[in-house]
Amino acid sequence: MKKHPLTLIVGAGIGGLTAAACLLQRGLPVRVFEQAPALGEVGAGVQSSANAVKVLYDLGLREALEQTVVRPQSFEFRRFDTGELMHRIPLGQEHERRHGAPYFHIHRADLHDLLARAVLKMDPESIVLGARADRFEENEHGVTLHLADGRRVSGDVLVGADGIKSTIRAQILGPTPVSYTGDIAWRAVIPTDRLPPDIMDTVSAVWCGPKKHAVMYYLRARKLLNFVGLVEYPHPENESWTQKRPWIDLKADFEGWHPTIQMVIDAIDRDGCYRYALNHRTPVHNWSTARATLLGDAAHPTLPYLASGAAMAIEDGAVLARCLAAIDNVSDALQSYQNGRLERTAAVVHESARNRDLYRIEDEAEMRRAFHEKNMNKTRSEWLYSYDPLTVPLAAAKEHA
Ligand SMILES: Cc1cc2nc3c(=O)[nH]c(=O)nc-3n(C[C@H](O)[C@H](O)[C@H](O)COP(=O)(O)OP(=O)(O)OC[C@H]3O[C@@H](n4cnc5c(N)ncnc54)[C@H](O)[C@@H]3O)c2cc1C
Repeated sequence: MKKHPLTLIVGAGIGGLTAAACLLQRGLPVRVFEQAPALGEVGAGVQSSANAVKVLYDLGLREALEQTVVRPQSFEFRRFDTGELMHRIPLGQEHERRHGAPYFHIHRADLHDLLARAVLKMDPESIVLGARADRFEENEHGVTLHLADGRRVSGDVLVGADGIKSTIRAQILGPTPVSYTGDIAWRAVIPTDRLPPDIMDTVSAVWCGPKKHAVMYYLRARKLLNFVGLVEYPHPENESWTQKRPWIDLKADFEGWHPTIQMVIDAIDRDGCYRYALNHRTPVHNWSTARATLLGDAAHPTLPYLASGAAMAIEDGAVLARCLAAIDNVSDALQSYQNGRLERTAAVVHESARNRDLYRIEDEAEMRRAFHEKNMNKTRSEWLYSYDPLTVPLAAAKEHA
C-alpha cells in the first residue's frame, strides 16, 4: 500500500491552516505547530476574492461563510476631501459571474476560526499549540523539526507557514533584504451601531489623497466596519500586527479629510488603534529544499495595496496539497508546487507595490486619468481573480530548477 508522507506545518495562520485542511481532505496526515498558546481572536478585516473562495468552498465552508461574510458590490475609489467618486470596479454578482465564486470581506478571526474547525474536524490531534519552531534538519529519509522548548518531531515534509518573520524562511534562504515602503498602516474595527446607518454602501471604499489613503469596508454581516489608514511616515517602526498607538495620532494623520472619514475615526475606541510598518521584500526565485518549503507570507510577503496577501496564502495551501497528493517523490512535489507558484505570487507582490503610487496622485485630474488608463476592471480581474488553484495544471518539477 502507498505510504502517505507526514507533513509538518509551522504556523497555524491562514496559509498553514488552509494547507492542513487541503492535505487532510486528500487523506494526507499533517501536524501543525503554532507558537501561540491559543487560537485566538486576532486581526481585523481580510479580503477574499473568487480565486481563494473556490478553495474555501471546496473545504465545505460555504454555509458557515455565509453567516459571517459581507459581499461588497464594488470597489469605489474616492477623492479624500470632496468624496467624489473617481473610479469603480464592480464586484458582487459581476465578480461571481466572471470568476466563478464571490468576493468576500471577512474578519481574519472568523476565517481563522472556520479553517481551524475544518482541520480539527478531520483530525482533532493535528494542531499543536504553544509550539515555537526553532530550526529543522533534513536528510534523504526525512525531516526533523526542533521546537524552542527542546522537543523534536519527525516527518517527511516541512512547510514554513510562519508569516512575515518566518524562522523557516531564514533557515532556507538566509537573511533576505527588507526595505521600508515609507508607509505605516493604521487599522481599527468599529461597531456599526456607533455610525449612521447610511454612512457607506456595501462596498470596498478606497479614499485616495496626497501621501496617504484609507480603505473601509464592512465585516461580520455588516456589524463591524473595518478601517485601514495607510500613511507616509519618514521613520520605520515595528512590523507588528499587535502594536497599539494613540488614537490622537490617527486623528491628526487624517486631519482635513472628508467628514465621513472624520465620523469613522471619531467612533474608533481610543485604545483600539493598531499601527505597523509596511515593508517590501523583493520576490525570491527559490524557497524550497528537497524536503522543506514555504507558503504564504513566509514565501512571498505581500503588501496590502492589492488586498491579496491572504488569498495568495490560501491558493498556496491548495496547490501544495495537490502536488503532495499527486506526486510520490517529495522533492519533486515541492518543486512542482514552487514552480507553479513563483511567477504568480511575484506578479502579485509587484502589482501591490505599484498600486500604492496610483492611490497617492496629488492632482485630481491626473488621478482620474491614471485610473482610466489603468482600466483596473479588466487588468486586475482576469489574471488575478479567474485563477483556480483547484484545477490549474500542476507545473513540471524541473521547469525552473
Ligand atoms: C496576529 C495577526 C493579525 C493579522 N491581522 C491581519 C489583518 O487584520 N488584516 C490582514 O489583511 N492581514 C492580517 N494578518 C496577516 C494575514 O493573516 C497574512 O498576511 C495572510 O493571511 C498570509 O497568511 P500566512 O498564513 O502566511 O501568515 P499569518 O496569517 O501571519 O500566520 C503565521 C502564523 O505563524 C505563526 N508563527 C510565526 N512564527 C512561528 C514559529 N517560529 N513557530 C510556530 N509558529 C509561528 C504565527 O503565530 C501565525 O499564527 C495578520 C497576521 C497575524 C499573525
